[in-house]
Amino acid sequence: METLPLKDKVIIVTGGTGVLGEAFTKGIAQAGGIVGILGRNEKIANERAQNIIAGGGKAIALIANVLDENDLISACEKVLTKYGRIDGLVNGAGGNMPGGIIQPGDDIFKLNFEGLRQVLDLNLWGTIIPTQVFGEVMAKNGNGSIVNISSMSSKHVITKVLGYSIAKAAVDSYNQWFAVEAANRYGDAIRMNAIAPGFFLTEQNRALLTNPDGSYTERGKLVLQNTPYKRFGKPQELVGALIYLLSDASKFVTGTIINVDGGFSVFSGV
Ligand code: NAD
Repeated sequence: METLPLKDKVIIVTGGTGVLGEAFTKGIAQAGGIVGILGRNEKIANERAQNIIAGGGKAIALIANVLDENDLISACEKVLTKYGRIDGLVNGAGGNMPGGIIQPGDDIFKLNFEGLRQVLDLNLWGTIIPTQVFGEVMAKNGNGSIVNISSMSSKHVITKVLGYSIAKAAVDSYNQWFAVEAANRYGDAIRMNAIAPGFFLTEQNRALLTNPDGSYTERGKLVLQNTPYKRFGKPQELVGALIYLLSDASKFVTGTIINVDGGFSVFSGV
């Protein structure tokens, strides 16, 4: 009999209320995991947990802001009270924000520091703070896998999105740093890896890539032109890499980044 790869593993997904988060939480439940759907929107988190439970899976809604350590500690206690353990964390909360975008006519010497700081806070500190709270529990348990969500913009220049790019580059750096320092202290008991998605149409980028009538913007067309598959990704196409990184199949893998991008990251554009 085939054993599900995440059978009975308790896995928290921040940003579990988002578009990619929906695919992550469903995929984890289908792989046998018990999912903590963490987000700020109580209604969506509860609905998603109920859907998973109705389908025969196990899930719990956790209402928390990833930048609020006390919220996260309460969420962590809720999970430990119910399930007694945590085996995985997906740092999925994040995204682009208008204040972190530099428009073509903007003066690059008059940056909006506050806007840039907000997007850096969400993507970088919104990855580090949950890792502090849930990662410590996993390290003490002696088994845990953390998956960060990087981006194409962390290694290649994508115009306009300065805040997002520097934040995701910092996430990549943290991904490597944590992997090494955690291995130094806990051996293979706690691992950290990342997935770098290519372009998926979600709420945080819809206005950049599509017009209100659904047609592609010039930027959307450029993305497709530079993606060898000539299409956007489907959220469920991230699930295979996610399950691999959360499961014991990747036990000897830490500090790495898997691109799931239809070839975008390897294409020179020529
Ligand atoms: P999304 O906006 O649908 O989901 C992000 C989720 O994070 C939302 O539910 C949002 O409410 C939540 N969130 C935002 N701030 C939060 C906070 N302070 N506390 C708790 N939750 C918070 O976007 P998505 O595309 O599903 O993004 C998921 C992740 O994937 C993000 O890290 C994003 O940067 C990354 N990503 C997306 C793409 C893409 O093409 N969509 C590409 C590369 C990387």
